Amino acid sequence: MSPTPDGLPPLRDVIAAHGLSARKALGQNFLMDLNLTGRIARRAGDLRNSDVLEIGPGPGGLTRALLSEGARHVVAIERDARCLPALAEIAAAFPGRLTVLEGDALRIDPAAHLQPPIRVVANLPYNVGTELLVRWLTPETWPPFWSSLTLMFQKEVAERIVAAPGSKAYGRLSVLAQWRAMPRIAFEIPPRAFTPPPKVTSAVVHIDRLEAPRFEADPATLSRVVALAFGQRRKMLRANLRSLGPDIETRLAAAGIAPTERAERLSIEDFCRLSRHIDEG
Ligand code: SAM
Repeated sequence: MSPTPDGLPPLRDVIAAHGLSARKALGQNFLMDLNLTGRIARRAGDLRNSDVLEIGPGPGGLTRALLSEGARHVVAIERDARCLPALAEIAAAFPGRLTVLEGDALRIDPAAHLQPPIRVVANLPYNVGTELLVRWLTPETWPPFWSSLTLMFQKEVAERIVAAPGSKAYGRLSVLAQWRAMPRIAFEIPPRAFTPPPKVTSAVVHIDRLEAPRFEADPATLSRVVALAFGQRRKMLRANLRSLGPDIETRLAAAGIAPTERAERLSIEDFCRLSRHIDEG
């Protein structure tokens, strides 16, 4: 048995000992290489004075790396009860520094367990990843509870998050992620790094929050406008935004945007200005 940096058993042994055969319905693709999970944890920044929220720890490869890298306290939300005994072994090896909450991350509010500064780090289950990201990006008030998000996505989703106006990948996620934060693709991870290997390449995205939004806008209005504007990419704005009211063409004109324009050509500043004109209604 090869030694591991934290003295716990290798992940392959953990998975075998606890019978953690991967379940597709839970988006389970486990990272087996502790060097790689260490690299993800380090990309999140200096963890020593931060609490970390992890979603979907599974057998705990990334959890172990976060703790080894010095995270003050890790709060991990896992839906699959089969993983809890393996996670309890990690908690015992890092006394007082790991809290595991069993359940659905879409329903659990971990706030009571976390102290700022808080960094979110996760190899997200693909089925809930985008929804969680949108929630973290669209709170009513800013700054949000988190200082940074370091998240694994399918590469294609990562490209949407960082895309610039005019590009094919530019859309709702790009606007929401770049309006009040700064996303970057940190590095790619090939399918072979996972067990079982997914069909697509993955990428780690690191997102630092900005202390204030780049442009003024109401988050609920902006979210609604971008969701509608990119609803049918090939359609003009006046068609996609029709449900916002009969005077949408007047509001577009007041914001200096041609009603015949397409969403992918609008900058984040344009979307914010349009949102303000819609709210003035
Ligand atoms: N972090 C581990 C790793 O890197 O190897 C596992 C990552 S795996 C892609 C996703 C994990 O999220 C699985 O352990 C799965 O059981 C868990 N999961 C799936 N849906 C979840 C949900 N709604 N809430 C919390 N955890 C969830």
